[in-house]
Amino acid sequence: MGAILENALLYGKSFLSYGKVADYIPELAKADPSNLGICLMTKEGLMYPVGNWQVPFTMQSIAKTFSLILALQTAGYDKVFSKVGMEPTGDCFDSIVQLETKQLYPFNPMINAGAIVTVSCIECSDPFSEFLQLVKQLCFNDTVRLNEQVYLSEKHTGQRNRSIAYLLLSDHILEGDPEPILDSYFRMCSVEVNTQDLARFSLILANDGKDPVTGKQMVEDWIIRIVKTLMLTCGMYDESGEFAVKAGIPSKSGVGGGIIAAADQGMGIATYGPVLNKKGNSIGGIHMLEYLSRELNLHYFANKTDTAV
Ligand code: GLU
Repeated sequence: MGAILENALLYGKSFLSYGKVADYIPELAKADPSNLGICLMTKEGLMYPVGNWQVPFTMQSIAKTFSLILALQTAGYDKVFSKVGMEPTGDCFDSIVQLETKQLYPFNPMINAGAIVTVSCIECSDPFSEFLQLVKQLCFNDTVRLNEQVYLSEKHTGQRNRSIAYLLLSDHILEGDPEPILDSYFRMCSVEVNTQDLARFSLILANDGKDPVTGKQMVEDWIIRIVKTLMLTCGMYDESGEFAVKAGIPSKSGVGGGIIAAADQGMGIATYGPVLNKKGNSIGGIHMLEYLSRELNLHYFANKTDTAV
C-alpha cells in the first residue's frame, strides 16, 4: 500500500504545473503550490500518509458535507429538501444564473447557493459552534479551529455569495437576515484541518456513518447515504460527471485544495494540493484519486472480480 501511495503522489506531482492556486479569496493565494499529500485510512484503522499530509488548510466547500449533515440532523429531510434540490448543475460552484433562469431553489447543497440555504436550515441557537463541534467529533480531533485570517478574507471579499444570499431572500427561499447566515457560512468554509482529520471523517462516510475503529455509529446511515450520493453526483463542481466516470468515488473538493473521498472497501481518503484546475478542483488531488481508484479497484461500479478498472 505504501508504494502505491508514493506512486500516486509522484503521478499527482506531474500535473502541478498545469494549474494555479485560488486567489479570489486573497488569503488562499498564500498557499505553497508545491504542496501535495494524501492520507488513506483502512477500516482496520491503519493509516497511510504520504507527502505533505500534515499541512493545514481550510475546508472551503468540503464544509458543505458537514453543514448538510447538521441540517438533516436538526431540521430533517422534508425541511431541507423543500428549500434545496438534489440535481447536478453543470455550472460552476458560485453560479447565480440558474437561480434566475431555471428554478428559484438552488439545485443542490454542494454548490454555494445550496449550501447557504442549507446553513439557513440548521436549527440551533449557534450554528457555527454546533458545526465546529461536529467537525471535531467526526475528525476525532479536538484541536480543529477557525482560521481567522481566511475567515476575514472571505468575509471581506464575499460579494458574490452576498449577491446569491440576497437573491434567495428576495425569492423567499432564504428566511431572515442573510448576514448572520453568510457569516456562519464563511466561518464554516474557514475551518482549518489537515488530511489526517479529513481521512478520519471520510472513513466514517465510507462505513455508512459507523466508525469502524470504535464500532460507534457516529451519524445515522440514511443521512450518510444522502451525503455520499450528492458527493458522487455533485461533489466535484462541474467536473462531477467526468470524475465519477474516471474515479467513481463519492468525493467533495474545496478551493482550499482539499478533497475527501469515501472509497469502496470502507476506505477513507483525503488529499491536499492547493494548485487547482480550471474547474476549481485540486489538480494533483484529482489525479492521485484517479490513480488510486485504478490501482486499488475503488470505483463503485467496477467489476469487483477484476483487479483493474
Ligand atoms: N468559501 C468558498 C466560496 O464560497 C468556497 C468555495 C469552494 O470551495 O468551492 O467561494
